[in-house]
Amino acid sequence: MKKYVVLAAGGSGTRMQANENKIFLCVGSRPVLVRSILLFERLIDGMVIVCREEDQPRIRNLLPSLSVSFPIWITAGGSTRQMSVLNGLRALRAEDDDIVLVHDAARCAAPQAVIEEVLDSCIRFGSGVPGIPAVSTMKTSDDGRVVSGTVDRSHLYEIQTPQGFRFRMLLDAYCKAEAEEFIATDDASVVEYCNIPVRLTSGSRNNIKITEKEDLPIMEAILQAPSPAVRIGMGYDVHQLVENRKLILCGVDIPYSLGLLGHSDADVALHALMDAMLGAAALGDIGTHFPDSDKKYEGISSLVLLQESARCVRDAGYELVNADITIVAQRPKLAPYIPQMVQNISDAIQCDPLQISVKATTTERLGFEGRGEGISAQAVCLLQKKG
Ligand code: MG
Repeated sequence: MKKYVVLAAGGSGTRMQANENKIFLCVGSRPVLVRSILLFERLIDGMVIVCREEDQPRIRNLLPSLSVSFPIWITAGGSTRQMSVLNGLRALRAEDDDIVLVHDAARCAAPQAVIEEVLDSCIRFGSGVPGIPAVSTMKTSDDGRVVSGTVDRSHLYEIQTPQGFRFRMLLDAYCKAEAEEFIATDDASVVEYCNIPVRLTSGSRNNIKITEKEDLPIMEAILQAPSPAVRIGMGYDVHQLVENRKLILCGVDIPYSLGLLGHSDADVALHALMDAMLGAAALGDIGTHFPDSDKKYEGISSLVLLQESARCVRDAGYELVNADITIVAQRPKLAPYIPQMVQNISDAIQCDPLQISVKATTTERLGFEGRGEGISAQAVCLLQKKG
């Protein structure tokens, strides 16, 4: 008998007012998604991550740096959590009696004891769903203004994930719910709908779900993993010099016989800076945020991408302390343009120009930069936690 996890990672982050999926936000310098995957280390035989199509490249980028004891597959989610979980179950090549746990990736602090009790309950009773007794008084209201009643809370439980079941029973229940258009907000409801008893196990008050931005510091406190106060990042980029292209560096259109080749405006210096900033916040790189396979970024000004990168960094809870960029080019002379470059960057990031340094150097005619075949740029930056 094997054990699997379907990890529901499809949240849109709309409630977080973040412009990205909350599973990529960092708790104590590790993305929520990574923490959720690691919860199951040494407990399971495989995991299916169900996520939005647009999040797949970024998730694939995160996985190689993890060394976990089980294989991970990624599959596309549906328009609701229920449809996403069904997609995940269909992607699993499991035996009827295998155990599958369905877990919300946003619950990245699920205690080991909670997971183990669910697994144990599945082995003994065929299901296990963690719950905690409701402690607050529960009231109903028809219009959200006037109380219409008070509910006896002695029989009420707040339900968490992971929720565990035998594979065939859960898949059949999900298929029946789909065929009969039954809408459920959790996996146990789907099984209950088929009149199959569901076993309660002990949940934990620490097993919170990140739904609002205010939840991040609470999650950090639970995991005792505060995000570091400062983070460092570096970026490096190269573009080829060719004819019939503009030479744009740090948003300045520089008169020259050659220009840089690339999908966007090929602003090599801003690309290095963005990689440094995203890297410092462990948010991937510009390739994952602005893929060159996407038509929307064709010929786009890299200053627009820089604004977007700066917003991602702010959403992750950090702000720039300073950045230092070195452009390596044999020709043309860049010194006259540097004040405008600094101004462009500080306007895009919305910071003080004193936080930005741009330098230019040659390589004494050595290498591809020295031969004038291309221009490279390096950047380092420091981020600090927002107060
Ligand atoms: Mg580039």
